[in-house]
Amino acid sequence: MYYFIVFIYGIIIGSFLNVCIYRIPLKQDIVYTSSHCMNCGTKVKWYDLIPVISYLALGGKCRTCKTKLSKQYPLIELLNGAAYLGIFHYLGLSYEAGMMCVLFSVLLVITLIDIRYKIIPNSILIFLMIIGIIYVVLVDQKFISSIIGFFAVSLILFLIAVISNGQMGGGDIKLMAVCGFIIGWQKILVALLIGSVFGSIIGVILIVLKINKKKQQIPFGPYLSAGVFVAALFGTELIQWYLNLVF
Ligand SMILES: [Zn+2]
Repeated sequence: MYYFIVFIYGIIIGSFLNVCIYRIPLKQDIVYTSSHCMNCGTKVKWYDLIPVISYLALGGKCRTCKTKLSKQYPLIELLNGAAYLGIFHYLGLSYEAGMMCVLFSVLLVITLIDIRYKIIPNSILIFLMIIGIIYVVLVDQKFISSIIGFFAVSLILFLIAVISNGQMGGGDIKLMAVCGFIIGWQKILVALLIGSVFGSIIGVILIVLKINKKKQQIPFGPYLSAGVFVAALFGTELIQWYLNLVF
């Protein structure tokens, strides 16, 4: 029953994430404007707003104009639900699990916006920073690690940005500052490492498959986001495993 509620909660939040993914880059309001069809503009009825189920009931089409709705809607909802389920199963009912759910959802929104628009909106980073400050002050209380974490990777990326003449985006720098504050300096370094490995592997695959031409700039944000999430959940174990391997 507990898992079921967590999963449903994740799906409902996932439905709100879809709204954020579409509206934040266009600087549209995310709370007061009701949902409408992207094609015909018809307001979506309340009974067609039930996550996943409405999509299936409508056969993935708008009720009015029958335009196909993006598969992204139910996929994001299910992915967010599954992630919340996994997080609460792994960490148990705790404030940390709650923080990890917020982190996952924010990183998911950032990833999709960064892929499409090659930007990481400041408003999302400010939101995450506020939640992060509340979490660190009230729950985590590892202040030194958080403050070092804020600078540990962001400073490295900032230096790369200066040296490479702006190849490294400002959004990536700010993202790693905020995430470093939340997960601490050890894990944010692991996150950078994992993100770089993901980026290299997938970058090569994209070039080999000719999906991406060499010169085309690939956003780094999605890889960093994946790295942050893996490090946030498994960073301690990964560091332990690595130390055992070396010593
Ligand atoms: Zn329509």
